[in-house]
Amino acid sequence: MAKSKFEYVRDFEADDTCLPNCWIVVRLDGRNFHRFSEQHEFKKPNDDRALQLMTKCAQTVMQELEDIAIAYGQSDEYSFVFKKKSRWFKRRASKFMTHVVSQFASSYVFYWKDYFKDQQLLYPPGFDGRIVLYPSNQNIKDYLSWRQADCHINNLYNTVFWMLVQRSGLTPVQAQDRLQGTFAGDKNEILFSEFNINYNNEPLMYRKGTVLIWQKINEIITKKIKMPKEEEEKEVEVNRTRTKVVPLHCDIIGDQFWEEHPEILAD
Ligand code: ATP
Ligand code: ATP
Ligand code: MG
Ligand code: MG
Ligand code: MG
Ligand code: MG
Repeated sequence: MAKSKFEYVRDFEADDTCLPNCWIVVRLDGRNFHRFSEQHEFKKPNDDRALQLMTKCAQTVMQELEDIAIAYGQSDEYSFVFKKKSRWFKRRASKFMTHVVSQFASSYVFYWKDYFKDQQLLYPPGFDGRIVLYPSNQNIKDYLSWRQADCHINNLYNTVFWMLVQRSGLTPVQAQDRLQGTFAGDKNEILFSEFNINYNNEPLMYRKGTVLIWQKINEIITKKIKMPKEEEEKEVEVNRTRTKVVPLHCDIIGDQFWEEHPEILAD
């Protein structure tokens, strides 16, 4: 095709190719979800509907886009790890980031009603995105450990904070003051002695966040088959294996998870 005299403007585009052989992480985070969660009456500190909707959107991202090996989410954020060898969109950072974030955001709105039922979506939510490259397997494991440690720290804090507000009637400022300078042990102690809560018995989804990985699923489906000499279709059972995105709420900081799932970090 003949080129117009305007073609030269393409040369102004910056090259944002991701370095080869690196894990490509896209992390997104809800914009001003402090306000969004209040306006949509999220249960504090953990609204199951919101967490499950986030995970549904992340599963959609993994299924729709190419080459995502693992994802990890907590609160209003999700991280997606693309395979080291991915050639998707010639490894252009802006393509990875924008496809992840826009697919996620449209899914959030699309699936909202399946999780929030009669709680209306009051305004269109937004998400920010960033991209980071990690050159070694240890780096990517440490990245995911960092996010899970963040989940733990925030959730422990939020669990005590909201107990102090909801059960003891403290104002948010009073609860914040009470927790100022406390260590994890102190927070566990407040939960146990004042609210009879053993933090370790809190749901895993809250304490560990959500890990999404690909798993082979064996399923038996019934197929209708038309037999050559018979009039009616016959139902037969067939075995098929397919890979599915499954959510786990497990520890990913220790070695056990990685020993049980060596395929995630394999080429
Ligand atoms: P920013 O735009 O800078 O990200 P933000 O208000 O979204 O601002 P975050 O640090 O991302 O700030 O915090 C997310 C907020 O959303 C927290 O206040 C958290 O309590 C709330 N939130 C997110 N998910 C849930 C949930 N499942 N249940 C209850 N609250 C939630
Ligand atoms: P890619 O993911 O690479 O962008 P694409 O299929 O979106 O693939 P584009 O080059 O962006 O490719 O082309 C957009 C396509 O959408 C065209 O085929 C165009 O016909 C169709 N399309 C977009 N807007 C309209 C519209 N308003 N009416 C009819 N067709 C449209
Ligand atoms: Mg933030
Ligand atoms: Mg946010
Ligand atoms: Mg956040
Ligand atoms: Mg297009």
